[in-house]
This record gives sequence, structure tokens and C-alpha cells, in this order.
Amino acid sequence: MAKDLPVVPSAPPGTMALKPVAAAWRERHPQIIEGRCNACGECLYFCPEGALKLKETEKGKELEINLDFCKGCGICAHECQRQALRMVAEYTGPQGLLG
Ligand code: SF4
Ligand code: SF4
Repeated sequence: MAKDLPVVPSAPPGTMALKPVAAAWRERHPQIIEGRCNACGECLYFCPEGALKLKETEKGKELEINLDFCKGCGICAHECQRQALRMVAEYTGPQGLLG
């Protein structure tokens, strides 16, 4: 069970690939649902690509998604206790996934 594994910080971006490649084949990516994310940072522990980080802003901490490294696995959205992330199709419209 994944829940039984020790929790360790995810690796920094660039650990799994020398340069961003995920966007070329990714079918979907996470999107933050406004008002739900409290920047707890839990999802950072689960992202296998290190594509998530908390950044300091004028309003406090905010979650930032580095889409250059996100492979669209959806683990972050699955693990977020607040359902603050939704997975959205990479392309939409007449020629896209939802077209
Ligand atoms: S998306 Fe969810 S787990 Fe990640 S920082 Fe926001 S509230 Fe926490
Ligand atoms: S979808 Fe996967 S790779 Fe992308 S930010 Fe979430 S956990 Fe990381």
C-alpha cells in the first residue's frame, strides 16, 4: 500500500529528466480549484516529478505547478484531502481530447 511507505520530500524538478519532456505526451494536467487549496503542501510529498512547490506571495503561500515537469499522472489530485485539484484535458475543442 502506498500509504504504508515512508513519506519523503519529492525530488526537485529535473531529477527524472534532464530537460522538460512531459508536456509533449501528457494528456491531462492538474488545475487548482480556486478557493479550495490552503497551501498545506501535502501534495508535494506525492508528486513523482517534483513538479509542485509552495511559493511565497503577497497573500501568503500558494501552490505552484511546474507544467514543464508534470507528466499528468493525477496523483496530486487523488491525494489532496481538500479536492483542490482537478485534472483537465491537455487540449480541448474540435481537434482535442474532448472534441
Ligand atoms: S492542492 Fe491540496 S494537498 Fe496540495 S497544497 Fe493545496 S490543499 Fe494541500
Ligand atoms: S499530475 Fe502527477 S506529475 Fe503532475 S503535478 Fe500531479 S503528481 Fe506531479
